[in-house]
Amino acid sequence: MRAFVHSLGCRVNQYEAQYLKEKLEAIPGAGEIHVVNTCTVTALADRKSRKLIAQLRREHPEALIVAVGCGVDGAKAGLLRAGADLLVGNKDKARLPQIIQAYLSGASLPEGDWPALNGEMVRGPFPRARALLKVQDGCTQACTFCRTWQVRGPLRSKSPELARREALALAEAGHREIVITGINLAQYGLDLPERPGLADLLSELLSVKGVRYRLTSLNPEGLTPELLSLFAREPRLCPYLHMPLQSGDDRVLSAMGRAYTAAEYAEKARKFLQTVPKATLGADVMVGFPGEDELSFAKTVELLEGLEPLNLHIFRFSPRPGTPAAKFSKQVSKEEAARRSSELATLAQGWSLKARARFLGTPLELLVEEKEGPCWVGHTENYIRLSVRESAPLERGTIVPVKLVRIEGNLNEGVVLDRAQDRGDLPS
Ligand code: SF4
Repeated sequence: MRAFVHSLGCRVNQYEAQYLKEKLEAIPGAGEIHVVNTCTVTALADRKSRKLIAQLRREHPEALIVAVGCGVDGAKAGLLRAGADLLVGNKDKARLPQIIQAYLSGASLPEGDWPALNGEMVRGPFPRARALLKVQDGCTQACTFCRTWQVRGPLRSKSPELARREALALAEAGHREIVITGINLAQYGLDLPERPGLADLLSELLSVKGVRYRLTSLNPEGLTPELLSLFAREPRLCPYLHMPLQSGDDRVLSAMGRAYTAAEYAEKARKFLQTVPKATLGADVMVGFPGEDELSFAKTVELLEGLEPLNLHIFRFSPRPGTPAAKFSKQVSKEEAARRSSELATLAQGWSLKARARFLGTPLELLVEEKEGPCWVGHTENYIRLSVRESAPLERGTIVPVKLVRIEGNLNEGVVLDRAQDRGDLPS
């Protein structure tokens, strides 16, 4: 059968889409299957999942349409109404090929248990230059605004040894950058018998030569002294940390159920920026959480001001049915949340400019990702999105030495360094 996987949502979902694509290739028979890998992180994500299913139903009336993942666990009924034939939740996602085969033959499979991650491996290549490697699932943090932990099941981690084998396969498939993903990477290894930490996992992964590694989002409690020291000495561990802050006010952080104080966050971020060569920082902030007043917001701004993040993702709190925060008193009006969001967005532009300006003229390593007009665009190891206008052909997926030469608003222009002395390797 011809199988198509359409994915919404986070990097973990994108990894799982690749896994499903590789597994579904083997289903025998004629006809088409469209799998929609849904997301339920916000009401908008639920709507997008339903919309995509309805559109596929219209365009492919004969096809088998299967909705899988977080949206199925969170909001089943709407997906059926939108036109899905079969719903498969996160618990059964990894055995989707068997479930589809049973469905097509009129049988049904007994309900399974949450599977260990060790059977979930991809070989690549991914459609994009960057590969993803999922090493963790589940979260026991139970943040009061978040729905993800409710639909992702218990903590499960992939052993360092199996993750290394998967990384090796991805390197052999041609990838030069692998992004390590999980639902809550700070909880990596807690469920494994030897309780390896992220630093142990990454040390094992670094034995695969010729690739660099990047972490997706990491909560501050995950930045241990061991991990910080690995970042500081290992150039193949990309020196960019996306560390969600959410709020700079301890009262709000505690109401959110976060596991750190504002001071702890600031200290970890500062240490990272000071000790890791070429380090930059990204953060998430949620504005308008119930009880966030002017003073709380000012504390958030002040904390970020001292860190000048390269990227800031700003979310406006919206009450998500089924989460404790939806019932909290002192809800902030939509207008006020929008005002705080736009004030922060303006400040974030300035912080980003300053973060990038620190690297003007510095040799960096660019992953060549895509062509945009006459330019090649990609990300440096410290996650600056850079475009280079290159007359000599560059190859997608390769890593080339560059220098950042111009910044204008969100645009960063670089040149490729083709002589060793430009890179500082040799005396000129
Ligand atoms: S740490 Fe909090 S926000 Fe992140 S997945 Fe867990 S519950 Fe959700």
